[in-house]
Amino acid sequence: MKALFLNGTRKIAVQQVARPVPKPDEVLVRVEACGICGTDRHLFLGEFPSHPPVTLGHEFSGVIEAVGQEVTDLQVGMRVTGDPNIACGACDACHAGRVNLCHNLQAIGIHRHGGFAEYVAIPRKQAFALPLSLDPLHGAFCEPLACCLHAVDLAGLKAGASVTVIGGGVIGLLTVQLARLAGATRVALITRNPAKRELAARLGATTCLDPTSAEVEAYIHQTGGADVVFECAGLASTVAGAPRLARRGGMVVVLGVLPQGQKVEIEPFDLLFREVSMITSFLNPFTHARAADLIATGAIQVAPLITRRLTLDQAADVIASPAPDGEIRALVVPSLANGA
Ligand code: NAP
Repeated sequence: MKALFLNGTRKIAVQQVARPVPKPDEVLVRVEACGICGTDRHLFLGEFPSHPPVTLGHEFSGVIEAVGQEVTDLQVGMRVTGDPNIACGACDACHAGRVNLCHNLQAIGIHRHGGFAEYVAIPRKQAFALPLSLDPLHGAFCEPLACCLHAVDLAGLKAGASVTVIGGGVIGLLTVQLARLAGATRVALITRNPAKRELAARLGATTCLDPTSAEVEAYIHQTGGADVVFECAGLASTVAGAPRLARRGGMVVVLGVLPQGQKVEIEPFDLLFREVSMITSFLNPFTHARAADLIATGAIQVAPLITRRLTLDQAADVIASPAPDGEIRALVVPSLANGA
């Protein structure tokens, strides 16, 4: 089969390898779609630790091709989404139920072979069923959605809450939709690209703001700020500026990933006197099944987030280049003859 290998920093190539054989507790998945995430670009550049040589791809779904002998509750032909994050279940964080903080976390597509391949073998416990009636590309959004769900859970959103989301990428646009589903009545999305602002409005944002204009200041002045601000851009400037967008007693939830070692200037006086809390949200602890259900039922729209479909052969160059302006998600579709 074909698989896209990371062989070291800035070394990525499609290789012909043997199709994996599932272990007794694994399922073999024929990959239908796998999203290219910013993390894949960080892995390519050596900015994120991995274990090369390894097949990248951690946002995948597909159809079960074979099951190991111990797997009795999933059958060949079922569609599944893979939760890439494998917790050890034995460390103190796992024992405390904080599986996303597992000391021995192994991620499919980072530490072991992932979904930029025709087939991927994954532990049965990482597979979550999706209906066969679902568009085969949509399951690739379960992983990012599961991460956004954790953030919304941490925020404890209440019906009638006001929310501001910074960043109109996949994470921001999924968070906008989840915030509306959780009962937020005012959801502002801040992003530079006008097409992304238009899309956000279609997906449920009640206000869309351009950070390069005076609109954001005017919005804060008019509303007093949001109950919850979700930082989904992953920039020092947006993390530093997020508390200003929260109202007195509000909260900032940071999802965005900054390079290790990067510092951000925060004003503790402002946080204290306005009692604004600032927390972080990491990965998808116990949220993957709910994400699968939100996608399976169509409660969350993902079709408009697909910018383009790529073959495995096209994926290497795309991962090796910055995302083009306006791109939301490029999906690798191993069965494609040509990209579209
Ligand atoms: P992305 O596609 O890069 O989205 C970030 C968006 O921020 C861009 O689309 C960009 O859109 C916007 N942006 C850039 N400058 C901005 C500014 N000054 N103000 C407002 N928006 C700005 O990435 P993504 O896949 O959505 O992921 C977002 C972040 O979450 C990344 O840092 C990613 O690594 C992280 N992440 C975290 C978790 C977790 O568990 N915590 C999970 C997955 C991803 P415009 O061009 O329109 O401005």
